[in-house]
Amino acid sequence: METKTALITGSTSGIGRATALKLASDGVRVVVSGRNAERGLEVVEQIRTAGGEAYFVGADLRDAQSAVELAAKATQVAESAGGTLDVLVNNAAIGTGGPTAGTEESAFDAVLGTNLKAPFYLVANLAPAMAARGRGAIVNISTLAAEVALPGLSVYGASKAALDLLTKSWAAEFGPAGVRVNSVSPGPTRTPGSEGLGEFLQVLAAQAPLGFVADPEDIAAAIAFLVSDEARFVTGVILNVNGGRTVV
Ligand code: NAP
Repeated sequence: METKTALITGSTSGIGRATALKLASDGVRVVVSGRNAERGLEVVEQIRTAGGEAYFVGADLRDAQSAVELAAKATQVAESAGGTLDVLVNNAAIGTGGPTAGTEESAFDAVLGTNLKAPFYLVANLAPAMAARGRGAIVNISTLAAEVALPGLSVYGASKAALDLLTKSWAAEFGPAGVRVNSVSPGPTRTPGSEGLGEFLQVLAAQAPLGFVADPEDIAAAIAFLVSDEARFVTGVILNVNGGRTVV
């Protein structure tokens, strides 16, 4: 079987990093990406030490141009390694929060730029080649805050709710050509990115039937399933991985 190549944005930390490690252990060639090259190269090193294949491509995803550049570089890396870019995980995001009144326009634009515009242009630049080959899998990382109102997370939640709509649009648009598109929507997960939430993370987790804070590996397992061939009949789904928070 041909080795698949996956680009995972924001895989220098947290859920993206756990996803890179999991996919690599499943035999996928991984393109690790993020702004921080030092942390990115550590992830690459860890994968290679375990016998997997990984490369780092730096990117500061904030607009169409940065997405176009990352798409081109990641495609080149996949092709130099003898493969094609078959999997995209849109995971990089920023979660700037606060009350609606007083939100600076620059903060609003930054959240939408990284969380919505960059994934849009990554898909616009990578999905057509997947479609031409007749196979591909894309997973967008959403959030509980896209479905329920969480205090101070209106712009962040809106950016991810829009991304969930794109998941459905893209599933319809690219499905006939064999490309599947799904969302994974995590609940509270212990990562460097959620550290700033302090005790609120556990308070939030306690509102769900399962009641505990997830590890990044819990989210990575769901992503790994959706990009695998075992999920070949699954597309357009928003998979809640949130301890059951949205059923109560
Ligand atoms: P994290 O530990 O802060 O990791 C975020 C990753 O995104 C890092 O690798 C970071 O890389 C990258 N990133 C941020 N801004 C970027 C930019 N402008 N350009 C390129 N890369 C950028 O966060 P996490 O908790 O793992 O979150 C990962 C995803 O899960 C996000 O989409 C988040 O919305 C979602 N999520 C998380 C939780 C949670 O409780 N943790 C819950 C629901 C949803 P660099 O620092 O190297 O740039």
